[in-house]
Amino acid sequence: MSLFQSIINFVTKKEAKQAAPEGLCPNCWGRQEYEGQFFEAMKNEGIDVNNVSEKVGWVQDYADKHLAGIELHEEGDQLVCSKCKISYRAQ
Ligand SMILES: [Zn+2]
Repeated sequence: MSLFQSIINFVTKKEAKQAAPEGLCPNCWGRQEYEGQFFEAMKNEGIDVNNVSEKVGWVQDYADKHLAGIELHEEGDQLVCSKCKISYRAQ
C-alpha cells in the first residue's frame, strides 16, 4: 500500500481505532503529534473526510515533507522505524 493510500484510509476510517496510518511508525506519529498537526493542516486547507481522496496532490506533498521519515521498513519479519529505531512485528 502506498503512503498516500494509507493516509486516506486512516482519515476516512469511521472507527479510527488505528494508532497510526498503516506503514507509519505509531511511536513517532503519536509522540510528535503528527496526528494533530496533520488534521490541523487539513482543516486549514478546507480538507475533510469527504473530499480528502480528491486532494491527492496535497496529501502526497504533506506525506513527502512530514511523514516519509517515519515510514516503517521491513527487516526480516520485523518492521523498523528508521527514525526512532523501534521495531514492530510484521503482520
Ligand atoms: Zn518511529
